[in-house]
Amino acid sequence: MNLKHNWFNLRATDGLPVNLFPWLSAKDLASFARALNKPPLSSIIADCPPPLPRHNLAQVAGSFHQCIKTNTDNVVHAMESFEDGQEVLRCSYQPNVFPALTIVSLPILLSQLADYLYINREKPSTTYPQVFFLLDYDVASDNRFRVAHFPSQATKNGYWTIAIQDVKPFSNKTMFSVPPPSPQWLDDVFSQIHTHMLQEIAVTSNSLISRRKLEDNIDFCRELARLSLQHSKSFTEFNSFFISLLINRYWCLPTIFIPGHEVLKKCDDHFIFLWDSSADIYKAKIKAAELMDEYGFLVRGSLIGSQSQLNFWIICECGERLAVNSEDIKYKTITAQCLECGRTYQYKKNQQMVFRELVRDGRVMPRIVADNIFDTIAWGFSAGVSYVGAAEHYLFTAMVESQLGIKPLPEFLWRADLSRQEDDKSFILSKTSKLSQDKYGQSSNTIRDIQFGKASCLYYLTAEDPKEVKSLILKTLIK
Ligand SMILES: [Zn+2]
Repeated sequence: MNLKHNWFNLRATDGLPVNLFPWLSAKDLASFARALNKPPLSSIIADCPPPLPRHNLAQVAGSFHQCIKTNTDNVVHAMESFEDGQEVLRCSYQPNVFPALTIVSLPILLSQLADYLYINREKPSTTYPQVFFLLDYDVASDNRFRVAHFPSQATKNGYWTIAIQDVKPFSNKTMFSVPPPSPQWLDDVFSQIHTHMLQEIAVTSNSLISRRKLEDNIDFCRELARLSLQHSKSFTEFNSFFISLLINRYWCLPTIFIPGHEVLKKCDDHFIFLWDSSADIYKAKIKAAELMDEYGFLVRGSLIGSQSQLNFWIICECGERLAVNSEDIKYKTITAQCLECGRTYQYKKNQQMVFRELVRDGRVMPRIVADNIFDTIAWGFSAGVSYVGAAEHYLFTAMVESQLGIKPLPEFLWRADLSRQEDDKSFILSKTSKLSQDKYGQSSNTIRDIQFGKASCLYYLTAEDPKEVKSLILKTLIK
């Protein structure tokens, strides 16, 4: 094993298989746009069911935007070209509680990418609709889902954590089954933000931000959160609505939001494809891990899984997420067992109608590698953006897909670096970087995290005019 690379420090040129995936050599978003194949970006895949009809996806997206009233003119136009069958750009992420700035910024990258592609388009009517695909069906115990990191000099480790109330009863249940927060919880979060930010100002009284502006910004965020809460029936909806209000209403972006667990109900053909291809996918994973090893990357065992393991989960009637296995090498019978309530499930290949019903009931979810495979085969996306933290997952799946004869979704792996701003009067980051590190307690990482967009978006949106935050991200993208 030759471990040359560390996932987080990955750069596009660090020994990556650019001969296999040429878009990985792109240094910035503009060169990524140039590196994508001339339209059509997508490719036809042998032996797979066709992607879901666009109107099925549009229906689900439509009710999402209607519910939170973010069906702005921009979104409505984007939906038209989406339903028209135009090539779609996507970002895809968990709807975490007050997520990191890098996550809420992905739609800004998408819209910039669309602009770059638009200039080179061959068909005059092409507008590249953009989708935020919400991975809302992972388990609630996931730390990033439950906890947001808010920088604070008043704490020992440099962070105050905003955490969802007790999720223990939900830990192995899907995210979308967690109920929304209470209004009291929300009030507490914002009164704490108020306290932490006032302390922040006290330390940097000469330059950070005026108290009045700070209070305006906090009010703005509180209002978005209150609106989100008013309309949400689950914690994932609360989190997704907050992002959508910011992106669609305030930043006026045309991003179409699709809650993943809703559209998975329509994917019975694609889950059957996963089941039928189990042996091929396992072989492809083993081969992909070998290739990655040759390139100097270590792939986690959990990504590879075992031969008996299917590439999807079943949700038990009690709500627990269950692994699915098969004892025979032809995967004729698959089984799952719930340790929580004792129920067992068994499905046979010659009775797949029963399994299809389970999918339509919303009780089958793709495992991690299958998630990326669905990007092309189920959703029919053409290209995407993500951040560099997703590199391991992305590269491994891309390798698996090429082994299977599926063209991987070209992705731009963004490494947000907000510290490059030359105009240092404009933004909190430059002001923050002037603070001495020891003011942030023992953690010297907090300032770096702030600069790499890893802190909760609430920090940036309260410390700076929320409109400026969008401009800042755009400035880092346009050279
Ligand atoms: Zn159960």
